Amino acid sequence: MSKSNLDGVKVVITAGPTYEAIDAVRGITNRSSGKMGYAVAQAALELGATVVLVSGPTALAKPQGAQSVDVQSAEQMLDAVKANLTGCDIFIGVAAVADYRVAKPSAQKIKKSGDNLTLELVPNPDILAYVAGLPNPPYCVGFAAESENLFEYAEKKRIAKKVPLLVGNLAQQAIGSDDNELILFDDNGSETLPRSDKLTLARQLMQRIAHR
Ligand code: C5P
Repeated sequence: MSKSNLDGVKVVITAGPTYEAIDAVRGITNRSSGKMGYAVAQAALELGATVVLVSGPTALAKPQGAQSVDVQSAEQMLDAVKANLTGCDIFIGVAAVADYRVAKPSAQKIKKSGDNLTLELVPNPDILAYVAGLPNPPYCVGFAAESENLFEYAEKKRIAKKVPLLVGNLAQQAIGSDDNELILFDDNGSETLPRSDKLTLARQLMQRIAHR
């Protein structure tokens, strides 16, 4: 077996944004096309892994061969992840999960008025931190999109979420774009994967994860 072969390895990946309903027609979401997460799923499939792709709303075609679970909200994403953790060897959180959801979403469309509207937001569960905190966690990989101070913030996030590998990228370069630049942070420091298309980067990333 080649060192990079992921035959028999189960990988669970979250991708895309989450959508948190305000009312029947409005919601809060994050800017995320899902391209990076779908590319990671594709790269894992190419190495022979069994892939579960838990995806928020995106306009992308699903990678062929992945088991996909479509969700909207962070809570649904967490439930779908939990339901697929049995036998999971590697968990990769690429999704841009909304940090907050509306405390009391309205089933009906809220009628517009000239008055201010106050929404109460409550924190969403942190899916990656939940998985990484399990007694026997899979190998956990996080992503961090930052708009500045990438090196400092990404390494802090890796420590806070207790993940062995955190992948940083600059939001301005990454969001919606077909290419990206990744910086991998682990116990040994950082490694830059230079600017390339997202599938090429995802293949390089999956090779490194497979070697670990
Ligand atoms: O949003 P944040 O920068 O903290 O995201 C870092 C990592 O944590 C990403 O891998 C993301 O998918 C994950 N995350 C999560 N659940 C959240 C927030 C972030 O799984 N509620």
